Amino acid sequence: MQQPNSGRIEIGRIEIITGPMFSGKSEELIRRLKRARIARQRVACYKPDIDLRYHRTAIASHSSQTHDASVVTPNSDRLREDLFANGKIDEVDVIGLDEVQFFDNDVIPLALELVHLGKRVILAGLDTTFANEPFGPVPNLMALADEVTKLSAVCMTCGAPAIHTQRLGASQELVVVGAAGLYEARCRTHFQPFIDEHESEQLELPTIG
Ligand code: ADP
Ligand code: MG
Repeated sequence: MQQPNSGRIEIGRIEIITGPMFSGKSEELIRRLKRARIARQRVACYKPDIDLRYHRTAIASHSSQTHDASVVTPNSDRLREDLFANGKIDEVDVIGLDEVQFFDNDVIPLALELVHLGKRVILAGLDTTFANEPFGPVPNLMALADEVTKLSAVCMTCGAPAIHTQRLGASQELVVVGAAGLYEARCRTHFQPFIDEHESEQLELPTIG
């Protein structure tokens, strides 16, 4: 029987692994990349240079598992340049990217381009900020992915499943990566969105009527 799409077989796929901090996103990404290598697939892994906790040349989980990674500025054009430089893209089957929330929205067409080249693209990143806003390109990537894995962590207040990242303290910056004691996983009951005093007007919902 004639297939739609004139018989072309799409072997590429986009997988996104999301959830709050400490939910095991990096652990799961590392697990999938290690299994791909066992299957003799060629793997390229990236992480943004703003996430240099634990390791400069690897992605690392809070449980100390690691996988070699190239460090790039979280700029989709730079990532594209690295992937397509010197024919590298032809020597890669699986592309992993950790902390994808820090990339600009052009990572979305880049992921689609890679999937059309037949690549397996595995993206890990936070779905929401500490203010409970959707985080960067992640919601769109979830919509476009072949497979979405949404993990939960353990609430540090009550032990229930946690879907939120609680910012502790009073830092004003959006991106403060992983400093110990700055973030905690929290359930809905124990999460309080962190509102920056200087931006609170922008974050207020419009009143109706
Ligand atoms: P993520 O990339 O989502 O931030 P990691 O893969 O780096 O998560 O870390 C997951 C690991 O963190 C868990 O396997 C566990 O060892 C540890 N951990 C620390 N605090 C928590 C928590 N509150 N909930 C779940 N795991 C936690
Ligand atoms: Mg992580």
